Amino acid sequence: MRFNTRAIHAGQPPDPSTGAIMTPIYQTSTYVQEAPGKHKGYDYSRTANPTRAALEANLAALEGAAFGLAFASGCGAANTILNLLQKGDHVVAGNDLYGGTYRLFTKVYAKFGLEFTFVDTTRPERIEEACRRETRLLWLESPSNPLLGVTDLAAAARIAHARDVRVCVDNTFATPFLQQPLALGADFVVHSTTKYLGGHSDVVGGAILLNDKEVADRLRFFQNAVGAVPGPQDCWLVLRGTKTLGVRMERHCQNGGRIAQWLAEHPRVARVNYPGLPSHPGHEVARRQMRGFGGMISFELKGTLEQSVRFVTATRLFALAESLGGVESLLEHPASMTHASIPREERLKTGLTDGLIRLSVGIEDVEDLVEDLERGFGAM
Ligand SMILES: *Cc1c(COP(=O)(O)O)cnc(C)c1O
Repeated sequence: MRFNTRAIHAGQPPDPSTGAIMTPIYQTSTYVQEAPGKHKGYDYSRTANPTRAALEANLAALEGAAFGLAFASGCGAANTILNLLQKGDHVVAGNDLYGGTYRLFTKVYAKFGLEFTFVDTTRPERIEEACRRETRLLWLESPSNPLLGVTDLAAAARIAHARDVRVCVDNTFATPFLQQPLALGADFVVHSTTKYLGGHSDVVGGAILLNDKEVADRLRFFQNAVGAVPGPQDCWLVLRGTKTLGVRMERHCQNGGRIAQWLAEHPRVARVNYPGLPSHPGHEVARRQMRGFGGMISFELKGTLEQSVRFVTATRLFALAESLGGVESLLEHPASMTHASIPREERLKTGLTDGLIRLSVGIEDVEDLVEDLERGFGAM
């Protein structure tokens, strides 16, 4: 089955007991057993739930993975990957990461004796230099958040695997419609399903997808032991979202491309970060490993911090909000919002400046979105 067919059907045969075409929301915490230990595969909903199982099978099919695990949030999914590591292990990670991932690494796991080195993974030689004997995991985001840096995933995986280091790719920005990291050599994919997979800004969730059965069993143990599992309503909402992922992403890519081009020619814009622009340093790699360039853009205004704030509060369609990936357009100011947990000196080193604005371009009519951004420029 091809992508859009899998999105609609994988993991979701009609309900055997009623014929319901949509997966029921199995709103139950426990399951009746015929005799102690004798049941139909479900005994308690932290361990397993049929609506969650449908979502896990669906997401695995979309990433071309053998195994899928769903979580209560993207951070819950990332946390569970780190549960695989031991005290003294070392992790190499990109230096332009989702702020919450950076916080999980530095504020939660560092104190349990894991060590982290953050490098510019868009330059593969930096990964090589950062690896040590204790390195167990390489954590990548491509395109990265919020600077839209593109890492050559196949090249990074080759470097890591030569040192017996496992590779995890946060594929939230690209989605499996645009990029499939497991096929490029990654060992794990993590998602915040809150974003494009859910697609309607009405649910928080996460997932891990992988092919290794032994590791999948260990992750399933942690999923149950730690307990950051999504409820059946939330699983159902993500399942509803993935059905339209392909058509939504096509429109996100179209609108994103148009707006990036328009911003690049705007006199009040100093720089546009969008992998679809030929001027983007990762454009060629992105063309090779992605089928489109997505709906995420960041750009730097020419002006003061106050002018940036005026810009982000003047638009009407682009709502000022954290998060991304919904059908509606959002904008935000990373330095004071999503990436406020990263120290200013660290931010500035990577190019995350005070004037940076991030757009999550929705699927509205693009002419309306351009007019709305023009309103922002007018208010500066
Ligand atoms: C939002 C996000 C996360 C965290 O996901 P939550 O669902 O908010 O916990 C991780 N990575 C990326 C790239 C994100 O955008």
